[in-house]
This record gives sequence, structure tokens and C-alpha cells, in this order.
Amino acid sequence: MIPFNKPYLTGNETKYIEEAVKSGKISGNGIFTKKCQHFFESNYGIKKALLTTSCTDALEMAAILINIKEGDEVIMPSYTFVSTANAFVLRGAKIVFVDSRKDHPNLDESKLEALITSKTKAIVPVHYAGVACEMDAIMALAKKYNLFVIEDAAQAVDSYYTGKDGVKKALGSIGHLAAFSFHETKNIISGEGGLLAINDEQFVERAEIIWEKGTNRSAFFRGEVDKYGWVDIGSSFLPSEIIAAFLWAQLENLEKIQSVRKSHWENYYSKLKDWALENQIELPRTPNYATNNAHMFYLICKDLNQRTKLIEHLKEKEILAVFHYISLHKSPFYSLKYNGKPLLETDRFTDTLVRLPLFYELNFDKVIDVLVKSNL
Ligand SMILES: *Cc1c(COP(=O)(O)O)cnc(C)c1O
Repeated sequence: MIPFNKPYLTGNETKYIEEAVKSGKISGNGIFTKKCQHFFESNYGIKKALLTTSCTDALEMAAILINIKEGDEVIMPSYTFVSTANAFVLRGAKIVFVDSRKDHPNLDESKLEALITSKTKAIVPVHYAGVACEMDAIMALAKKYNLFVIEDAAQAVDSYYTGKDGVKKALGSIGHLAAFSFHETKNIISGEGGLLAINDEQFVERAEIIWEKGTNRSAFFRGEVDKYGWVDIGSSFLPSEIIAAFLWAQLENLEKIQSVRKSHWENYYSKLKDWALENQIELPRTPNYATNNAHMFYLICKDLNQRTKLIEHLKEKEILAVFHYISLHKSPFYSLKYNGKPLLETDRFTDTLVRLPLFYELNFDKVIDVLVKSNL
């Protein structure tokens, strides 16, 4: 059986966990946490990185940081994971969904401006499959209307955007805030895990306080204050050193992991091209301004029927392919609250997109062989 995902271990995870345990410091914000945070700050041009227990938590921190209140509006794609929306709903926001682009599940930047009202507080672009949204357009709107941009970079580690100025920027370093995920289905993993990237200086100090349960403990340990206490709202957002130790073993091997994933991705692409054309199936597209970090290899079928057949066919040959997302504006939780326009491209991706297995130890030849022999 070829699973949809298999977590890859570099070999150093248990060694570093043992080190963390033996060091006697296993709660959060120790040596491994700092190594991981520094990795993101120095490699990706992020002003301040804070490790979190999940991307969901990092998004919740972002919602607190920009002071989301009852009635505020937050614009985001409907074709995304629930956490993108939940973080803001938890603080009373109304979610305004924008449709996906025709050529990509990412949000359609040309449809954003019409959705902005006096209540709009933030835009949350999701870099689907690690492919950049059109950030120049999004940042320009944010500036014009005084909005915050929070990148959902859950899938976007080691991926880049090149704007009109020709400067290549890492995803997660562009918005005021950004959130990464290290869930076991992502490229770089720690089981559960995430990171909040802070690029706007004004949020740095408060982010640390929210992260430390609403206390100024971090400042205390740096000797900046002589006692620490409750100074703001917050929660338990920082992971233990055991998680950070695992993550460090992964980050040390990022280049190797990425090069293997990219090679699998390229193999899928080149060997499925003709077959896809014959069957009216679309392969993923990467716009010129974006890079591909090989987070995901997906197919866009011609209709729901073809996708169902394809998934069934692969299953018979013991290969697990999966689809996602049931668009959030049609979810049992949010559909009654949704009063926007129909989102036709979102609906199309919900019905037709299917993800093929993609992981380090994948035997992609078998998947390709089964697919090219299939007639859909
Ligand atoms: C995986 C994912 C999340 C959630 O990440 P967790 O670390 O599991 O909380 C959020 N948004 C997107 C787009 C994701 O793919």
C-alpha cells in the first residue's frame, strides 16, 4: 500500500530529544527553540520568529496581536483549512471569503478591493501548495486601506515571491505577520508544531507576552525587568524543548529534504504531462513570481465524476490519493453566516482537485505507472 503521507525522519530526532531531556530543561524557550527561531530569522529575513505548538496557535496569536474584535471583518480564501478562519472567528470576527483564481486555488487578488469595507481589519492570503499569492497587489491594498496582512504560510516553508522590484522574498517574511506549520503532513515536521513570524516591529514585544501566557517572563529572563507578572492576555502557545529538538533535526536537513521532494515533484510533472492532456486533467501551475517548494502535487480533474473514478482506481491499486477542502463558506458551521456571492472557482477546486502521495520515501514510479495506464 502506498500511503498518502509518510513522515520522514532524518535520524537525529531522537538524539536531539535525548539531549534536550538530559539537559534538564524540557519546558519551552530553551536552546533548541532558539536554534529553530534563529534559523527562520537568519535564512528567511523574518524579523522575529516564535515557535508555537501549531500553525493554528500562531494564527490565533496573530488575531490577538492585531486586536480583532467583535464585528471586525477579515478577508481570506474559502478554499483553505479551517484554522485560517477559526483563529479570527474565536475573537468575534466576521469572515469575508474571496474566490480563488482561475488558474490556482490561491485567492484572486483582483477581487479583493470590492470586498473591503470600513470594518475590514485584515487580509489573510494562504500560499496554497507553497505557491505565493500575488503579494505586491495584496500589500498595496493593505497600505491603501490601512489593513494588516497575515500570511497563512502553513505550507510555504522554503518558498519565495519575487515582486515588481525584482527582489526575491521568502514567504512568511512579507506580511505584517505570518504562520508556519510543522504538522506531520508538511515538508518540515515536528508532529504538531508551528511558528509565528513577526515582520512588523510594533508586534515583537507584545507577541512574546501573549506567547508566555500573558506574562513578561521572557523580558524577566533577559534581565530587562526585575520581576514578572500578568501584563496582558495570552495563552500557552510555546512548545516544549522536546518538540523543538525534533524540529531542529529536520531544519538541519532542510536542503536534503527539499531536493528529494522537488525531484519527486518534477518526476510527477514530466511523466504525467501527456497523460493529463489526453484526459483533460490540469497539472499544477506556478506563476512567474512564485517558486515551487514541492509541498504538494495535485491534479485538477475535468469534473467530480472523473475525480471520484481516479481516486477509486488508485485505491484498487493500493495507492491513497485524497481531496480537500470542502469550501469554508459551505461548511456546516459557516454556511448560515455566509451572505456573500457564490464562489465559483472555489467550488470547482473543491469538486475537482486531488492530491497524489508526496513524501521523501515515495516510490513515485508505481503511482505514475498506474496513472498512465488508466483511462479516465
Ligand atoms: C496545515 C495547515 C494549517 C494548520 O496547521 P497546524 O499546524 O496543523 O495547526 C493551517 N492552514 C493551512 C493552509 C494548512 O495547510
